[in-house]
Amino acid sequence: MLDAAFFRRWMTATAASVDREAERLTALDSPIGDADHGSNLQRGFTAVTAAVEKEDPQTPGAVLTLAGRQLISTVGGASGPLYGTLLRRTGKALGDAGEVSETEFAEALRAGVDAVMTLGGAAPGDKTMIDALVPAVDALGDGFVAARAAAEEGALATTPLQARKGRASYLGERSIGHQDPGATSSALLIAGLAEAVDE
Ligand code: ADP
Ligand code: MG
Ligand code: MG
Repeated sequence: MLDAAFFRRWMTATAASVDREAERLTALDSPIGDADHGSNLQRGFTAVTAAVEKEDPQTPGAVLTLAGRQLISTVGGASGPLYGTLLRRTGKALGDAGEVSETEFAEALRAGVDAVMTLGGAAPGDKTMIDALVPAVDALGDGFVAARAAAEEGALATTPLQARKGRASYLGERSIGHQDPGATSSALLIAGLAEAVDE
């Protein structure tokens, strides 16, 4: 079972990897965007960990809804509302249970990813964070390590795609040949799950 402490560790692990990879995320956002993705998420996840520390949410759902609210209010741009919706909707789907099973979490994350697709209008293959998140959710039944591999593979597979959503889509065919920054950060988020497991 996964408790609130697990979800707090997930957010802390993600904040740490976003810090480590911020320059790379911003560099990926340079040829097909406005070179701010790393700094956007760094600001967001710094706010997430500070809020989780201060408010000490006691259920999995409360951790994720708080994190989502922080991302919406601090990140801005396209990715803030999208990542914020992902975590808030996932948290809402978990309800107020003190612990959730991995299956319940997988179902909740599916609802969160669906909400991102509804909000942003992106489908798989549009060269967005959805290209990492959907394969990750599909693989989650096989465990966090399988989900991480699926997300990383999905992020790499965005390189040959032409962007159909977000800022990169303004480039048309010139968006081809670059890995999507949001799919790359989504792979970091999913990788954080395996790190959050308490051995
Ligand atoms: P901005 O483009 O506003 O500067 P960021 O650079 O923080 O925002 O985030 C860009 C990322 O957001 C993209 O790489 C892409 O993965 C994701 N993104 C943009 N638009 C959409 C959308 N409509 N649906 C899903 N993801 C999107
Ligand atoms: Mg950007
Ligand atoms: Mg921007």
